[in-house]
Amino acid sequence: QEFGEISIKDIDQVAKTSFPLCMRHLFEKVKEDHHLKHGGRMQLGLFLKGVGLKLDDALAFWKAEFAPKVSAERFDKEYAYNIRHNYGREGKRTDYTPYSCQKIISVTPGIGDHHGCPYRHFSEENLRAALVRMGLSSRAVEDVMDKVHNRHYQLACTLTFEAVHGSSCDAGINHPNQYFIDSQRVLQS
Ligand code: SF4
Repeated sequence: QEFGEISIKDIDQVAKTSFPLCMRHLFEKVKEDHHLKHGGRMQLGLFLKGVGLKLDDALAFWKAEFAPKVSAERFDKEYAYNIRHNYGREGKRTDYTPYSCQKIISVTPGIGDHHGCPYRHFSEENLRAALVRMGLSSRAVEDVMDKVHNRHYQLACTLTFEAVHGSSCDAGINHPNQYFIDSQRVLQS
């Protein structure tokens, strides 16, 4: 089965069903605030590239989300370059790879940043609320929080995956794009 591509019209749907919490959060924030700071744009942008969003669709996505706050002209001037850069079309033409969990967990988000790993960087209250919004039972929330308290963030994410999908994830979660692929596999089987 192929998971090589995703089009812009499917993105809202798959964000709800198959994005890990770190990416759901960024996705919700860009829809809410019509903006994301650099760290968030990188983390979500490279993830979306890994999910199979083509460059033209990526440009259209960010432009539309930013539109209430950023004019088309300013978007083209200030943001488009970075997006093309992430796709290896500018600068050194490096094809940048999406961030792993380890990398995301190790960052230190500043005030107003929304990137990072929610299991590591959210307050307990916000994390519990986010897990409930993902549909976890109170029992499952406690199991996840238990992992978080022991600083096993990827295991916490794995338990969330299993609770959301009703299916085990024996390999454990080590990459947001792996979460996505495993999720699509479960949902399409
Ligand atoms: Fe994202 Fe990985 Fe954290 Fe899960 S463990 S929320 S995939 S960074």
